[in-house]
Amino acid sequence: MHYDADILIIGGGLVGTALAAALAPSGHSVLLLEGRTPQTETPSAQWDNRVYAISRASEKLLRGIGAWQRLDIDRIQPVSQMQITGDDGRSALKFDALDAGIDALTTILESGNLQAALWQTALAAPNVSVLAPAEPVAFAHDADGVTVSLADGRVLRARLAVGADGANSWLRRSAGIDSSARAYEQWGVVANFETERPHYGVARQWFFDDGILAWLPLAGKRMSIVWSCFEARKDEFLALPQAELDAKVAAAGGRALGELHCITPAAAFPLRLTHVRELVRDGVALVGDAAHTVHPLAGQGVNLGFGDVAELAKLLAATDVSLLGDRLNLRRYELARREAIYLMQGACDGLQKLFNNRNPILKTLRNAGLGLTDSLPWIKQQLIRHAMDA
Ligand SMILES: Cc1cc2nc3c(=O)[nH]c(=O)nc-3n(C[C@H](O)[C@H](O)[C@H](O)COP(=O)(O)OP(=O)(O)OC[C@H]3O[C@@H](n4cnc5c(N)ncnc54)[C@H](O)[C@@H]3O)c2cc1C
Repeated sequence: MHYDADILIIGGGLVGTALAAALAPSGHSVLLLEGRTPQTETPSAQWDNRVYAISRASEKLLRGIGAWQRLDIDRIQPVSQMQITGDDGRSALKFDALDAGIDALTTILESGNLQAALWQTALAAPNVSVLAPAEPVAFAHDADGVTVSLADGRVLRARLAVGADGANSWLRRSAGIDSSARAYEQWGVVANFETERPHYGVARQWFFDDGILAWLPLAGKRMSIVWSCFEARKDEFLALPQAELDAKVAAAGGRALGELHCITPAAAFPLRLTHVRELVRDGVALVGDAAHTVHPLAGQGVNLGFGDVAELAKLLAATDVSLLGDRLNLRRYELARREAIYLMQGACDGLQKLFNNRNPILKTLRNAGLGLTDSLPWIKQQLIRHAMDA
């Protein structure tokens, strides 16, 4: 039986390229199929409006595969402190890297910077080939493996197909794996700003009763925002002239960094929670947003995906080539990831519901909860450890 590759990864976003690179030492041949042309250079002229808070566990994975070393270090920002403010404007919770005995709680970097580093790493791996741009149109599974047909007429055979093709995963649908998505009826409005005052590596988050605003420090006197809000607000933000958006964002954050000046125009992403019933089937595994989506309030979506990568790459490296598509073997990956995924989805969903509620009793309780947590150093240490190693 001829195989074009042992493992066919569909989707070359952050998670798919990381998986391809993580499979370099496995010796299995990998074919990475992506719908768009790979961006192998960091776009230098502009600051990307997609920005990620990369956890310590994700950093460890990225260092291990050699991608972290390829980042443009002038465009990454360690976070020394996180300040969270409740919707009474007074209750606050502060996490400090120094208190936890570490250099940084998390690291903020642009999607484009990380994506370029991951493409470079995947392309440098001798066992990884790339097919891009390419469009898969049909999928079939049989006892010997999987067949993926492309729009240009080519037909690919592999022992295992991995879906890393995002929240609307084509492979997930084609393999008949059920998923349920719940729209939050909220949007994540993102934009970058130059700030009048230095941020000193402090990330800030405000819970309002109609949304959540995060200020994430970027290298230099710059920051990125994610404002999770309802559709009407999103439309209002996107339509605002720049000076008014600057003033609105500065005022919402109590002018903590002085005047703001927008450097990357606002864009909006729909927010939803996606549960996927099975992460594996015979010949199929799902990773990243294809396997789960979460509310971005904790900035953990791509970190969950990198957790999938670490686990699946470890399993596949230890698997004989003849068993790569074996469902029972792939179930080990599913079992290892289920808890982390459910916990993160539950925690983000719970927080979103707790704060997205105008009930005055809940308002008092949630703000008291922030203050109480702030006064308990041991609990804070545990929260920091959990967030960093998630
Ligand atoms: C507003 C907002 C803010 C966020 N902030 C954070 C944060 O701070 N930290 C964090 O960890 N996460 C964050 N997230 C979540 C994060 O963006 C996602 O979890 C992450 O991008 C998922 O990566 P992925 O590679 O799995 O999927 P995607 O990024 O969706 O990549 C999928 C790839 O597959 C390709 N593709 C799709 N379909 C096909 C096909 N049929 N054939 C071939 N290729 C295909 C696409 O072109 C793309 O390259 C945020 C999300 C939102 C909406």
